[in-house]
Amino acid sequence: MMGAKTIGCINHPGMEAIGRCRQCGKPVCKQCGLTGAKGIYCSEVCKEKHEQFIQRAGNLEPTRGYRPGVGFRLRQLLGVLITLAAIVCVLGMVSYLTYIPLLTDLTTRVLSLLGF
Ligand SMILES: [Zn+2]
Ligand SMILES: [Zn+2]
Repeated sequence: MMGAKTIGCINHPGMEAIGRCRQCGKPVCKQCGLTGAKGIYCSEVCKEKHEQFIQRAGNLEPTRGYRPGVGFRLRQLLGVLITLAAIVCVLGMVSYLTYIPLLTDLTTRVLSLLGF
């Protein structure tokens, strides 16, 4: 292919560039390209700049979303209390209607204590 010209590294014109710096867009070869978490960079300075930028951009959202608020814990506690109350109600009704040793004894004792 005559027209296809490979992009040369900014520091080594003879070397084929493996990609462009994520920060400044300069083509770099694998010898001088720095591989970061988000891509390749031409220098340590560019890598730091870009990663700081991503960190700053990423920090805006999670801080707003992450909040282990009191409301959530209260709702959780309320859910447990409602479940417990429902279990007690059902157990009381079942023991009242049908004879369950110990449980019926207990409820009748409680009822007699209350004056029933
Ligand atoms: Zn760069
Ligand atoms: Zn190079």
